[in-house]
Amino acid sequence: MAKSEKRASGPKGGAKPRYERVLFKVSGEALMGSQSFGIDPAMTARIAGDVKEAVQLGVGVAIVVGGGNIFRGIALAAKGADRVTGDHMGMLATVMNAKALKMALDDAGLDAVVLSAVEMPEFCETFTQRGLESHLEAGRVVVFAGGTGNPFFTTDTAAALRASEMRADALFKGTQVDGVYSADPKTDEDAQRFDTISHDDVLARGLKVMDQAAVALARNADIPIVVFSLQEPGELARILQGKGRCTTVTN
Ligand code: UDP
Repeated sequence: MAKSEKRASGPKGGAKPRYERVLFKVSGEALMGSQSFGIDPAMTARIAGDVKEAVQLGVGVAIVVGGGNIFRGIALAAKGADRVTGDHMGMLATVMNAKALKMALDDAGLDAVVLSAVEMPEFCETFTQRGLESHLEAGRVVVFAGGTGNPFFTTDTAAALRASEMRADALFKGTQVDGVYSADPKTDEDAQRFDTISHDDVLARGLKVMDQAAVALARNADIPIVVFSLQEPGELARILQGKGRCTTVTN
């Protein structure tokens, strides 16, 4: 029996959602909306609305947010600068995004808290597994900032790590397309879409779902990765209700 089937209760009088507790990975780029840089408040509000629908289904939601809309360490390293410093800057970018998302979640009427992998008590709480659990049990939406807290990692890997720590029933990865394809569907018209695929196949075929460390971590923790389109408002809740389009990566 899936972990979610043991735990799920669902909203009063409603159908039981497909998963009870999920980790939602939002890339920094998604927050740009129609802009070419930074944070579009219309987009953070949209994502907050999607999260609210999931919470109203009785689902516990935590979010790992990226920083690529502001800074990536590798971009600095490519110009010959120190990678570790670049990655520190990238992690700081995720903190900005997390603060923006928390504001949007609060505005949507949710109770949200930012937990950072790196201590910055004036700005937000510091991540601990115990703190995380108590916030989730209190029904708060948790926004993870600072990635893993270590250079040379990505927020995809942070998403798989935090999903494992919170014993998530699934890791939702919002992307530009509605699932996992055998090739890039935007450039290859023969690309085939999978409804389900195993973590091992994703790794063996080198499919660009999340980075390989993240997929391996999710596989080892037996956490399905649900790949879906962030372009579709309301898709998160539809998938949680067994509708909507997605690819489920599962062992
Ligand atoms: N980063 C890091 N360690 C982590 C997570 C992120 O050093 O555990 C840095 C890294 O420089 C990365 C940047 O933060 O490029 C932004 O994260 P990411 O590229 O994963 O963001 P996304 O692509 O999801 O917007």
